Amino acid sequence: MDSGRIVIVGAGQGGFQAAASLRQEGFIGEITLIGDEAGLPYQRPPLSKAYLKTGVADELELRPAAFFDANAITLVHGLRIDTIDREAREAVAGETRFPYDHLVIATGTRNLRPPIAGLEHTVDLRTLADAARLRDLLAAPRRVAVIGGGFIGLEFAAVARTLGHDVTVAEAAPRLMARVVSPELSQRFLAMHQGMGTDVRLGQPVARVREGAIVLADGSEIAADLVLLAAGVRPNSELAEAAGLAVANGVVVDAQLATADPAISALGDCAVFPDPRTGRPVRLESVQAAVDHARAIARRLVKGVADPYAAVPWFWSDQADWKLQIAGLATPEDTAVGREDGAVLRFDGDRLTAVETINDARTHMQARRLMATDVPLTRETLAASDYDLGPLMKAARGR
Ligand SMILES: Cc1cc2nc3c(=O)[nH]c(=O)nc-3n(C[C@H](O)[C@H](O)[C@H](O)COP(=O)(O)OP(=O)(O)OC[C@H]3O[C@@H](n4cnc5c(N)ncnc54)[C@H](O)[C@@H]3O)c2cc1C
Repeated sequence: MDSGRIVIVGAGQGGFQAAASLRQEGFIGEITLIGDEAGLPYQRPPLSKAYLKTGVADELELRPAAFFDANAITLVHGLRIDTIDREAREAVAGETRFPYDHLVIATGTRNLRPPIAGLEHTVDLRTLADAARLRDLLAAPRRVAVIGGGFIGLEFAAVARTLGHDVTVAEAAPRLMARVVSPELSQRFLAMHQGMGTDVRLGQPVARVREGAIVLADGSEIAADLVLLAAGVRPNSELAEAAGLAVANGVVVDAQLATADPAISALGDCAVFPDPRTGRPVRLESVQAAVDHARAIARRLVKGVADPYAAVPWFWSDQADWKLQIAGLATPEDTAVGREDGAVLRFDGDRLTAVETINDARTHMQARRLMATDVPLTRETLAASDYDLGPLMKAARGR
């Protein structure tokens, strides 16, 4: 289709990209981008990094207001879609109905609220409004406690520590970032954060939070006048579920990012799609996935290109002056081979699943390029080059 009405619900990274890519692909119909947050679509990654230090919000905007006018994208902000009427093909917000020929669900995630008493004493870090509030709170010296030793909790901890606050991180798992990195990297990041003076408590679920302290499972109390809740996220898939679409830890889509309803696609943090390498359902929380999904949907809708989505996933996290980059997707069970220069290769059996690096953009880019080729990346072939990706890159170019 190159005309008609496309409605996008959720004006975050992926929703914005879908609107922009539809125009780039030549869509000449109506595009309506609806988001429940105030203001222009913005990028979230700096919220736990540079923004906490600089407070410059304009730099976060994905595009200025003029872009939306110039591209005839109707941006509706501060409005929450509460129903999808599939029969009438309308997205509904109270009395207002937005008719569509195609609907893109790009509703992202929200903070997971584990069953811990006293969460009303915690603050979130998901939106620009959250980050602005945290910045204000960090203006005075604080005892900061962070619930969750994942990317966002650790990025925040690093900034808070750099700004001179006392920081404790409480992580329920026995190691940091356990879901996404190898034990080797967990250990290195633990040492780095401890070296900065952060008190890291591992294997310690937070039992409750009270005014002025968090209480750990072993009964120990940590005084804190600022408690960040960073214990993971949940997909915003209720809208899809209520409309009768399949939902399983996110909105279920096929390899083309289409739901079972041919008039509805889903993308980004809220979408569960078949991992092109394993066929297993996967939901990725990354800018790359949201952007690449959006581009793929735009190509399919406008040009009819229905190739299965197959982009190599990649992730990054900035903690103090360490840039962690991951090419590929590993599970916590995958084995790890550490190279002398610090890069870590993960394997599922014989198959390379991910390459983890710290401050090593070259290896990261090599891994991303290589994983996008059909060069067999087995433990054997990699061991033969001493886990150096360079020779395999040459082989890939020669194919
Ligand atoms: C603090 C922080 C740091 C991060 N750092 C990184 C990083 O370093 N690297 C990285 O790759 N990723 C990072 N991420 C993750 C990244 O921001 C997300 O993966 C990305 O934004 C996903 O895009 P999305 O469009 O799927 O969802 P979002 O960008 O979250 O957008 C979804 C939007 O939909 C809105 N919405 C939900 N329901 C409705 C409704 N019913 N009606 C209207 N609007 C609705 C939401 O309010 C939200 O604005 C970070 C996220 C956070 C919060």
